[in-house]
Order: sequence, then C-alpha cells, then structure tokens
Amino acid sequence: MNNYAELRAEVVARFAGHDYDPRGPIVFAWHVHHDRLLEPLVEPIDNRLDWIFRIKRACEIETRLQWLRLVVGPLPKAVVAAGEEYAAAWEECGAAWEKLVAAGKKCVTWEKYDAAEEKYDAAEEKYDAAGEKYDAVVAAHRDEIEALHAVECPGCPWDGKRLVLPAEAEPE
Ligand SMILES: [Zn+2]
Repeated sequence: MNNYAELRAEVVARFAGHDYDPRGPIVFAWHVHHDRLLEPLVEPIDNRLDWIFRIKRACEIETRLQWLRLVVGPLPKAVVAAGEEYAAAWEECGAAWEKLVAAGKKCVTWEKYDAAEEKYDAAEEKYDAAGEKYDAVVAAHRDEIEALHAVECPGCPWDGKRLVLPAEAEPE
C-alpha cells in the first residue's frame, strides 16, 4: 500500500496562501479534474484531495496529485472574468440549496417551500449557464492557455483533452 501523505502535503503546500477563499481573489488550478485543463477553485484544495482519496482508483491518485497545481498565470482577462462568474454562480447555488434544505427542516408552508425550490432551480440554471460560458471562453483562448500550460506544467501527461491516467495498477 502506497503512502501518499508526503505527496498530499506537497499539493497543499503548492496552494499555501493561494487556496480557495470565497472573499479573496479567485484562484485557478491545473487538472482539478482529469478532463478539464484548468478551473477556478470552488472549495479548499483539501476538500478536493479528500474526494480524490475517497472515490478515485488507487492507481490514479499519484498522477492526479502530481499534476494538481496552482495556475501562476497571467491568464487571459476574459478567462479570469468567466471563472469569477462561474465561481460566484456556484456560491449562489450552494446558498440557495442550503435555504431549501433549511426550509424543509423547518417544515415551512408548501408555498414557502415551493418559492425556495424555485430560487434553487433558478440558481442552478444560472450555474449551468456560467459553466457553459466558462468552457466557451476557455475554448476561445485555447492557444494562449495551452502555451501557459506548457510553461507551468512541463512534462505532464495532458493529451489536449484529458490527463492520461494509468489504465491499471503496476504489477507488484
Ligand atoms: Zn499539466
């Protein structure tokens, strides 16, 4: 069994002082997900690491952690702006979800509950639209982003569409 504690600490150190902060400046990272080149962080990096350890295949973990890195930049302004919109829409969606859950727990009237549900649906729609817009802006600035990626992430197994992960564990 591999011990990833050191690698995990290394990832956390990469984001020290630049981790997700809903009130701070937006932070972008390379390879948060294996099929997206870069994303704004919408949660602390430690949460993403927990998720990776919980559900990803063990043979992928080292590759994922090795290349999960802070984007130093600068990124094209349009990408930063679209990322900010996307992250803000995510926050709103989360807040609307919490209100909906709270309304359910308080057992409010159907009318109030429906209103909270509508607000959540609207926030989710806005989030989906912001995600699509973000992907479109990233696609429109593909060449600049790939050039920056080549400088900041030399040697990484990104094939233009995904981080190439090991197909299976190395034999013991
Ligand atoms: Zn890379």
